[in-house]
Amino acid sequence: SRMQTRTPATAEEGSETPSGPDRVGSILRLESVTVSYLVDERLHAAVRDVSIHLDEGKFISIVGPSGCGKTTILHAAAGLIRPTAGSVLYLGQRWEGRHPDIGYVTQKDTLLPWRNVVDNIALPLEMKGMGKKERREQAAAMAERMQLGSFLRHYPAQLSGGMRQRVQLGRTLIGNPKLLLMDEPFGALDAYLRLRMQELLLSILSEHRPSILFVTHDLAEAIILSDEVVALAGSPGYVGLHRRIEGFSDRGDIMAMRTQSNFGEYERELWLTIAPR
Ligand code: ADP
Ligand code: MG
Repeated sequence: SRMQTRTPATAEEGSETPSGPDRVGSILRLESVTVSYLVDERLHAAVRDVSIHLDEGKFISIVGPSGCGKTTILHAAAGLIRPTAGSVLYLGQRWEGRHPDIGYVTQKDTLLPWRNVVDNIALPLEMKGMGKKERREQAAAMAERMQLGSFLRHYPAQLSGGMRQRVQLGRTLIGNPKLLLMDEPFGALDAYLRLRMQELLLSILSEHRPSILFVTHDLAEAIILSDEVVALAGSPGYVGLHRRIEGFSDRGDIMAMRTQSNFGEYERELWLTIAPR
């Protein structure tokens, strides 16, 4: 394990993993991140003093209203923008630009319009040097899992927004990233397909265990998927609440979770944070 012991050996050592803000095992650490954009020669803060520590194998969601800075936080986490103040550390290191172990499902898709579904999904395998036949087989299997089996030869322009989101999700997952950043990946789906995709994501995660920073404005989705939920309040956004989600017996069973009483309590608490009376 990458985790280091910070304290001298004690009787309890090994019985519990260290936790709290200075935990060393975080794969991603946002430390007091403030991002301001230059608009018309003036700096406008988009997020203020945001600290999030994502431990390996954990799932953290960020919720908050449109414009509160969710995408800005993911861009900073992806290394695509540098914070105006504070720092972003991946496995304890600062870095610039794209990191090969970080997969980013952006809010606006970045599919290649001249490539069909299979060849878009196969892109990360191609970059690794995998041969055409093998990567097309793997990409087609991933497309099937994304419920795109009837659209393998379609081009992005021939797909709905929700389909394009799933192509992008499949393309990111096939690269097997250690850290997965997802910006409202199910935002364009109807309610049923959204449930289906939430189930699918949970089942994929039970096989691989990437660490995930996930953005959604859907409070129920955040509660269902996450180990922890960060609610942004205000404008510029700041962390209004950082809640650990606990007490669900079967995390794979979305309908059972939604009917448990603590589900409604979490939802209400998050709602009151982002929309104070
Ligand atoms: P969200 O994803 O929560 O909707 P964003 O991170 O996209 O929020 O935006 C947060 C704030 O920053 C908004 O006020 C938005 O107008 C502003 N903003 C986002 N991107 C830029 C940019 N490239 N230049 C200037 N302002 C931006
Ligand atoms: Mg956004």
